[in-house]
Amino acid sequence: MLAAMLEEAHVTRTIRRLAPDTASRIAAGEVIERPLSALKELVENALDAGARAIEVRVDGALDHGFQVADDGTGIAAPELELALERHATSKIGELADLDRVTTLGFRGEALPSIAAVSRLRLTSRTGESEGATFVAVEGGAVIARGAAARAAGTTVEVRDLFFNIPARRKFLGTAIGELRAAVRMVECYGLAFPEVAFRFVVDGRERIDWPAAASARDRAGAIWGVRHAAQLLEVLEERDGVRLEALLGLPEHARTTREGQVFLINRRWVQNPALGHALRQAYGNLLPTGRFPSATLWITISPDRLDVNVHPTKREVRFADDRPVYSIVKGACAVPLARLHPPFTVVPGGTPEPAWADRVRELPGQESLGLEFGRLPAPAPGAAPGQGRGAPPGAAAAGPEPEFWQLHRTYILAPVRGGLVIVDQHAAHERILYELARTRLEGSKAVAQQLMFPAVVDLTRTQFEQVLELGPWLEHLGWDLSLLGPPTVVIHGVPADSIRVDAGELLQDLLDGVSDDASRTPHDDVTEHLARSYACHAAIKAGDAMSQVEMRTLVDRLFGTSRPHGDPHGRVTFVRLELDELHRRFGRS
Ligand code: ADP
Ligand code: MG
Repeated sequence: MLAAMLEEAHVTRTIRRLAPDTASRIAAGEVIERPLSALKELVENALDAGARAIEVRVDGALDHGFQVADDGTGIAAPELELALERHATSKIGELADLDRVTTLGFRGEALPSIAAVSRLRLTSRTGESEGATFVAVEGGAVIARGAAARAAGTTVEVRDLFFNIPARRKFLGTAIGELRAAVRMVECYGLAFPEVAFRFVVDGRERIDWPAAASARDRAGAIWGVRHAAQLLEVLEERDGVRLEALLGLPEHARTTREGQVFLINRRWVQNPALGHALRQAYGNLLPTGRFPSATLWITISPDRLDVNVHPTKREVRFADDRPVYSIVKGACAVPLARLHPPFTVVPGGTPEPAWADRVRELPGQESLGLEFGRLPAPAPGAAPGQGRGAPPGAAAAGPEPEFWQLHRTYILAPVRGGLVIVDQHAAHERILYELARTRLEGSKAVAQQLMFPAVVDLTRTQFEQVLELGPWLEHLGWDLSLLGPPTVVIHGVPADSIRVDAGELLQDLLDGVSDDASRTPHDDVTEHLARSYACHAAIKAGDAMSQVEMRTLVDRLFGTSRPHGDPHGRVTFVRLELDELHRRFGRS
């Protein structure tokens, strides 16, 4: 059957001209890939017309019926039908104008394409004209025209999209998925044009109602809520003729998809993998692999350094030279991220601390930030959760002390002003040890903690060679080793901040970690891998019980590091839960 069909396809070899109707539907299919593209084109037209307010109304589903109304310049009555003709545009006159495009549209293809594959009604009125006029089109053919009533501006109604291309109808996504994508598109253009008011109504229900906003942050507040918008980090930088403005989500707002990223180039909403990559680089190891920052980037660049005519739906653009754009995004976005510090600190408690707590506090400039933990009544003696190794006997019962709670021996719950932080004990300790290791590797050599009984360890061949290679660095980290001859080493002293008991095992894990660090690239400094591996293997593990003092020290130290939000692999170290959020969930206003 299939073979017969394919064979038949080969028979019709002579070249024939497609009927104009067929040709225009094929062309339309490129511009209008899916219902969302039709809506996007119409919203772009409204913005190009200088609209101050745009309203989208959907009737059931986009492919069933929707309309876009604006209060822009309008189209003069004599030009109404011209607007529906292919390659008719008011936006460019000649090829060279493509270098100067500042409008979103320029090809004169959208209206005719939509008209070719739907039942469309275009109603418009300019500021000067007495009344409005309309033209109705079905599958590209005009079926009615005449006078209409409306204020200055344009309304385009689109019904039964793809009614005459059954093949396309079969491949449409779900109506709900398409609506969700439509809301996201309007959000993106809402961010590109904060000064424009937007409304989006589905079956009479308002999904979006944003008044004109004074700033991008205000619009972000309308979209995501004022509290979230207030936390976004701001970037403003201009160099090499590229201007960048950005609102960056905090590392803990990172997502598993790129959905949270909006790239606007000369106010055009685009996809650009290079920008996504540069943004990701700016977050560095604040994020784990597989997590994508949420951010909105506004990039302004001279139109002659940008090719907007590379994709039928104009979703992609090409820079004459990527590098200045890439470097400004990577560089400028990294600045506020590097300065991130938590808005809360931990109060040093009055209870005696274990040796371990002292040891993790030795990095200069890492005093407690004087943060205040909420105080709750002391737990009853014996009822203190997570009282483990290292806790002074009776510490938990020794009077009022900041309440900590270890959850599943993995997370530390700590009340802070305005909410709660949940810290991943392993990730947090890794961040602390990583910074400690980096400092030592860069200069201030650690003093080894001498073992009372030196440990004799048999390494593998590779591990032994690594010790030869990394010898000086290991010493900087705080190892005191002597070589007994392949494959045996003697450990005389260990880095003081490790909590691991078995020195030989720690050394072996550390060396293995350096050789199989998956994120290792040839350009990386070996000390980076050593620091990461050390942090990973010397850190407290999930499943280890901790005393309250240990927990408090850990949290305190975490927030004394330069980048407390992520471990060295970029995994999140803590999550913050706002009291407001809890109140909201429990229905307290
Ligand atoms: P393009 O946007 O590429 O010029 P379109 O097919 O989308 O092509 O639109 C054709 C022309 O119709 C535009 O150049 C513009 O002059 C006019 N037009 C379309 N929509 C509107 C609108 N909402 N308000 C005013 N003019 C419009
Ligand atoms: Mg257009």
